[in-house]
Amino acid sequence: MPSRQRLFLVIVVLLSLNLAVVAAEKKSKETKTSEPSKPSYELPQPAVENLDLTMYQRIREEGLQHSHIMEYASGLMDGIGPRLTGSPNLQKANEWTRDQLTAMGCSNAHLEDWGEFGIGWRQLNTWVRMSAPDTAVFIAQALPWSPATHGAVSGNAVWVDAKDEKDLEKYKGKLEGKIVFFGPMRDVKPVDKPLFKRDDDSDLKKIEEFPVRVGERQEFFQEFIRRLEFREKAGKFFAAEHAAAIVVPSRDGRDGGGSGGTIFDDGGSGMGWFTYQRQHAEELPIVVMAIEHYGRVYRLLKANVPVTIEMDVETEFTGDHQHGFDTIAEIPGTDPKLKDEVVMVGGHLDSWASGTGATDNGAGTIVAMEVMRILNALHVQPRRTIRVGLWTGEEQGEFGSYGYVKQHFGYVPLSTAPDQLELPDFLRKPAGPVVVKPDQEKISGYFNLDNGSGKIRGIYLQENAAIGPIFEQWMRPLADLGVTTITMRNTGGTDHEAFDSVGIPGFQFIQDPLDYGSRTHHSNMDLYERLQPDDLAQAAVVEAIFVYNTAQRDQMLPRKPVPHPELDEQRNAPLKNVMPGAQAASEEMKKPGF
Ligand SMILES: [Zn+2]
Repeated sequence: MPSRQRLFLVIVVLLSLNLAVVAAEKKSKETKTSEPSKPSYELPQPAVENLDLTMYQRIREEGLQHSHIMEYASGLMDGIGPRLTGSPNLQKANEWTRDQLTAMGCSNAHLEDWGEFGIGWRQLNTWVRMSAPDTAVFIAQALPWSPATHGAVSGNAVWVDAKDEKDLEKYKGKLEGKIVFFGPMRDVKPVDKPLFKRDDDSDLKKIEEFPVRVGERQEFFQEFIRRLEFREKAGKFFAAEHAAAIVVPSRDGRDGGGSGGTIFDDGGSGMGWFTYQRQHAEELPIVVMAIEHYGRVYRLLKANVPVTIEMDVETEFTGDHQHGFDTIAEIPGTDPKLKDEVVMVGGHLDSWASGTGATDNGAGTIVAMEVMRILNALHVQPRRTIRVGLWTGEEQGEFGSYGYVKQHFGYVPLSTAPDQLELPDFLRKPAGPVVVKPDQEKISGYFNLDNGSGKIRGIYLQENAAIGPIFEQWMRPLADLGVTTITMRNTGGTDHEAFDSVGIPGFQFIQDPLDYGSRTHHSNMDLYERLQPDDLAQAAVVEAIFVYNTAQRDQMLPRKPVPHPELDEQRNAPLKNVMPGAQAASEEMKKPGF
């Protein structure tokens, strides 16, 4: 660069620096006079909530007298069907929800890509029968991402009794062309309690109590991981031995619900957790069978009676690198000062494959859609923007909600320790520090529904104490609908956790359990008939009121501080010099196992 030009540049830079200083001074004077640069959730909250009871009445009337929720239910569950992440059906559901949200009057309905998921798959047909020593038709379905048999196959059944790799050795050279029955027979107890249950006062009282557990946390999932690792190895072993297919027994549900024709087809039954990724894919066709049918074959084999099984698993892979998408839509805010702030509502759109995902989580999806329909039908002009998010990839690790939160609000870096890298993300330890984006300050709260078809009985505060008195006031006019319970408890296992993880108030409602844990959660019986229209209409009304109140109040909802997982180790370390008379530990004593 010639020197004269350089001098010119220096002058320009000095001048603009000077201007910047003047501008900054001016700005700081301005902010001093007009004060609130703090987000409103940090200001003191009013003691009394300003409730619009006319709007309560209008939402109740629209949602209870003019409900359309079961039309959405039939469209999604009957019209589209199961919605496994990565499947063509889920893509249809993303597009259908987007178009329905547009049709009801929402703005900006669109799909957002949260990243690559893995294999696209669908089941076309599955049948399994016994052809010797007797004939029998069995209840069974392909596990998600099972390869096809490519036509009917027939083979002798072998029960493989193996708890670890060593146990597998004795089957070497004995499995070629065989149908492997993998897993011990479990107890099938009489179903002597109702599969369908509502929370009574004593149940709700229990939920209200906060469980205190001081001390070491149980590494409950270690066993879960060890089991999945072994299953992946066993799956590879059966394939290397050229077995024809694998049959696994269905697990149980609450109170013996996993019987009587109900089978569960979730990830725990597969030969590993990541079977939706090509490098971990199931190598053999695999079906899950009703426990009583599995039991018959099991007892025959134990008594050394040869059993012949015939089966046809007709499945189709529809891609190896399918992306996942969330459906997003809005009712724009109208208050000039608050319209850039947001309240969100949602549930997950994806399901497992053997039913139609009616209660998990068709229910949460159609309730969120009905919330938006009610608010559109009433032509509300919310102060803040109301946004719905229908997530996918929830069943494999809440991918859609975490992906959305990461793109818009922030994320928690996860531990990269070698043992942690092998775990599914939702089991990995948060490492922190939490990375927060500017929009994190603009979202007041997120409301989620994903505990089945049961009506709303209250809300989990997720340990956000400051919000208790607010929700209590909101709920008082809803007591006649059965909404009475507030608990400081955390609840997990669904998409509000993504928001909570970066310090955004995220909530899941307390719902009546019904037959969710016993029969419908991840089962072939998760069908339209298990949806309770009255419960769903109630849930839509309650959720709409929570969303509306959040959009209208002067301040954003109070929040917990952003978590600091990076400080956990230090905060949990034992205090020093507490024990009187204790001598400093010698080097020898510091060794592990001393
Ligand atoms: Zn769910």
